[in-house]
Amino acid sequence: MRIGIPRALFYYQYFPLWKTLFEALGYEVVLSQPTNKEILRQGIELCVDDACLPIKIFHGHVANLIGKVDMIYIPRIVSVEPREYICPKFLGLPDMIKNSVSKIPYIVDAEFNMYKGRYYILYHLLNLCKILNINPSRMLLAYGKAMYAQRQFEKLLVKKSAVPLDIFDQKQEKQSQPYIKEDNNIKVLLLGHNYNIYDDYISMGLIRKLRKHKIDFITCEMVEKNEIQEGNKKLSKDLFWTLGKKTIGTAYYFLERKQVDGVIHIASFGCGPDSLVGELIEKRIKREFKIPFLNLNIDEHAGEAGFNTRLEAFLDVLEGMKYFEDNISTYG
Ligand code: SF4
Repeated sequence: MRIGIPRALFYYQYFPLWKTLFEALGYEVVLSQPTNKEILRQGIELCVDDACLPIKIFHGHVANLIGKVDMIYIPRIVSVEPREYICPKFLGLPDMIKNSVSKIPYIVDAEFNMYKGRYYILYHLLNLCKILNINPSRMLLAYGKAMYAQRQFEKLLVKKSAVPLDIFDQKQEKQSQPYIKEDNNIKVLLLGHNYNIYDDYISMGLIRKLRKHKIDFITCEMVEKNEIQEGNKKLSKDLFWTLGKKTIGTAYYFLERKQVDGVIHIASFGCGPDSLVGELIEKRIKREFKIPFLNLNIDEHAGEAGFNTRLEAFLDVLEGMKYFEDNISTYG
């Protein structure tokens, strides 16, 4: 049996877990192609107009799997951390897909909700057992292997300051390039949802471009959880959105330690959480840190020329600042 996983949204976060789980259960895991013009076109055509770009692209990836698989895994994700929620669009995704995409294979839409505690993952697994007709003890065994793979993946992201595409199968992800960091490089914080930043097509090759300019970057996935929590202590009110919290915690942690030369925030046009988070970070940078901040909004109409111009101007400012710092004495 072949199970399809759309190469979009939480693929960038949970692919090692999902792949190992389904393979340990005897399924062949099939990925949709990397995002391309056709996938975007199909996504726009199938999805409702007012959805954000990542959701539209997800529709395109589902369409890309039609005819190649027997079923598609689209969990109904409500919460991935205790006492927190993620964007409601994840919750409604299986229904959106069923209503918008015709001739789709069976959708495995078991609920994934850890709001009440991490052990609620068991409900997700039991649901999967019912849907896939699998013995629970076999499922638990497979889940043990999958969690091990996921932990290894997360450790590598932090330890090697890697991006998921550096770690996933190199044959599938040809656009990833090995990169060596140097001490004197400019360092930026690269903030935003992992499904925007790491998708080479959506982010218009941002990671490749930064590496080409020898700019080091830190993303939320390269940071230890306790550092993110430390950063979030500065918030006057606790946020209950996991993705926003992750971004703000990372930003505040590194800004306060003055460990970065600039900040890039990638936001999806029409995304409520992104606009709030971007605003909070930008205001704090202007008030307290005075380092360059670049907010890049992406949607299906964004052109690469404009994107490049803004990015290059931002990098020029950073390089200029670095030159003065390294060559001009502060004593005149
Ligand atoms: S958090 Fe924003 S970008 Fe992500 S799915 Fe929700 S609306 Fe879209």
